[in-house]
Parts: sequence; C-alpha cells; structure tokens
Amino acid sequence: MNTISCIALLLAVCALLAAAVYDLHTRRVSQRLDEMLDAAIQGGFTPSRYDESHISRTESKLSRFLTASVLSRDKIETDRKQLAQTIGDISHQTRTPIANIKLYAELLQEQDLNGDARELAEQIGSQSAKLEFLIQALVKTSRLETGVVQPAPEYSMVAELLEVLESSYRSAAEEKGLSFSVSCPPEASARFDRKWTAEALGNFVDNAIKYTDKGNISISVQQYELFCRVDVSDTGIGIPEAEQAAIFQRFYRGEEVRQRDGVGIGLYLARQIISAQGGYVKVRSAPGQGAVFSIFLPRT
Ligand code: ADP
Repeated sequence: MNTISCIALLLAVCALLAAAVYDLHTRRVSQRLDEMLDAAIQGGFTPSRYDESHISRTESKLSRFLTASVLSRDKIETDRKQLAQTIGDISHQTRTPIANIKLYAELLQEQDLNGDARELAEQIGSQSAKLEFLIQALVKTSRLETGVVQPAPEYSMVAELLEVLESSYRSAAEEKGLSFSVSCPPEASARFDRKWTAEALGNFVDNAIKYTDKGNISISVQQYELFCRVDVSDTGIGIPEAEQAAIFQRFYRGEEVRQRDGVGIGLYLARQIISAQGGYVKVRSAPGQGAVFSIFLPRT
C-alpha cells in the first residue's frame, strides 16, 4: 500500500469516527430535549437539573423557554389563588353589612312614615336585596371561571330536579296569575350536578315569570340518545332576534326590560353552569310571542 492510499484510508477512518461521534452527540442531545419536554409536560421541569455549561445551544434555548413557561404557569396559579381569595373576602365581608341594611330598611318600614319616607325606605330595602343578589351571582360566576368550584355531574333522574323547581316557583307564577305546568317522562335521565343545575334552571324559570304578564309557564322534557332537553317556555314579551345572542353576555339587559327588576347576570351564569357540565343552551323567541329556552343536558 503506497503513502497516498494510507492517507486516504486514514482520512476515511477519521471521517467515519467523526460521523459516529456526531451521531452519538446528536442522539444524546435529542434524548435530553425529549426528557426536558417530557418533564415539562408532566409539570416536573426544573431548570437547575440542566447545567448550562454542558448543554448545546438548542438545549439551552429550550431550557430557557421552558423556564419562562414554568414561571408564567406558576404566576397564573398564584394570581388565580389571589383572585379566589379576594372574591371570598368580598363575599364574606359584605354579607353582614348588607344583611344589616336590609334589616334597618325593614325596621324603618314598620315605623309610622309619611308617603315619601315610606317609598324611600322601600327603595333602600329593594336596592340592598339587588346588591346582595348581584354580589352572590358575581361570586358564583367567578368561582366557576377560576375553577375554585366545579359542578360534579352524576347520573340522575330529571323528574326529581323538576320537582324541586316546581316547589320553588309554582306559587310565584300563580301569584302573578300565570298557570304553571311541568311534564317530564318518568324515565328521563341525564348527567348533571343537581345543585348547580337547579340554580341554572331556576334562572330560566325566574325570567319566564318575570317577563310574562299573562298566560302560562311550562317546563317540558324530551329525551334523546345523547342529550336530555329541558324546555322552559313562556307566553311573555319575547326577545327580538337581534338581541338573542347578546342576552347571554354578562350584564346585558334587553331594551324592552329596563323598567323591570334585574341585573343582567342570570343567563350568563346559567349558561356557564350548563356548559361546565358539557351541555348547552338555545333560545327561540319572537317579540310578543313568548320565549323557549332549551337546556341540553348530556346523557353520557
Ligand atoms: P335580567 O333578567 O336580570 O335582566 P338575565 O341575564 O337573566 O338578566 O337576562 C338577560 C336579558 O335577557 C334580560 O334583560 C331580557 O332582556 C332577556 N330575557 C331573558 N329571559 C327572557 C324571557 N323569558 N323573556 C323575555 N326576555 C328575556
């Protein structure tokens, strides 16, 4: 073998060795990148495990990126906890003063007041009840939004849920001169959280009574394979088509109803409760022709 052949052979061996080393290095880097990503996905990524002086540029960049993600995730969690704490404080700290204002308003109304003073005392009572309702509704929506509380759906009979609603709302409807009917197949069932779903349905029924001056309120149930549909129908003022998407927004109140009591949070909260359980809500209505709110509760 001549010198040139020897050099060529040596170069070839060196090239093979270099390729093998490079391949090994690439595999190690990709394995470490993989480990970093796995650790991040499982929530166990700690930057201190990766010594900057021993890792490649790509690993270093990924490590910095993941460190920033971990920090912002931790910050979101801290903010969420603080928000939940603030909401809890607002709810707790306002309960006693509002209860006292309501009590003083009632005591005032029992006094021998002249017409104007009586009217003012009644206003104090009704406005403080509104404030109490508003704070409680905001606390509930925020708790749902921040995940502090979550509905716990379980397979239950829909008729039992409607019995609770009927006992709470029949007398309010009848006092207003409205007839009230409930029809539900005994076998109708769905997956829902009883307490929260009763609250959501209660908001639909409460609205039906509030926005209906004559006629009837009816609740009916239709069972499908995947969903159970609960319809809350009324013969009230109805909702213009242009408003139908907006009514589910927080604090939205229809043009026609500004003179009636309300704060515009009921439908927002109701829809939030139903969607948190995998269900959805639809509305069908026309001005002057009543409204039908359909609540679809999942069955699987
Ligand atoms: P609120 O009733 O306090 O105004 P909601 O969030 O419960 O707030 O409802 C939002 C709006 O949707 C109401 O202001 C009203 O315009 C409309 N709405 C809801 N339910 C009905 C109904 N059954 N009939 C007519 N309008 C309704």
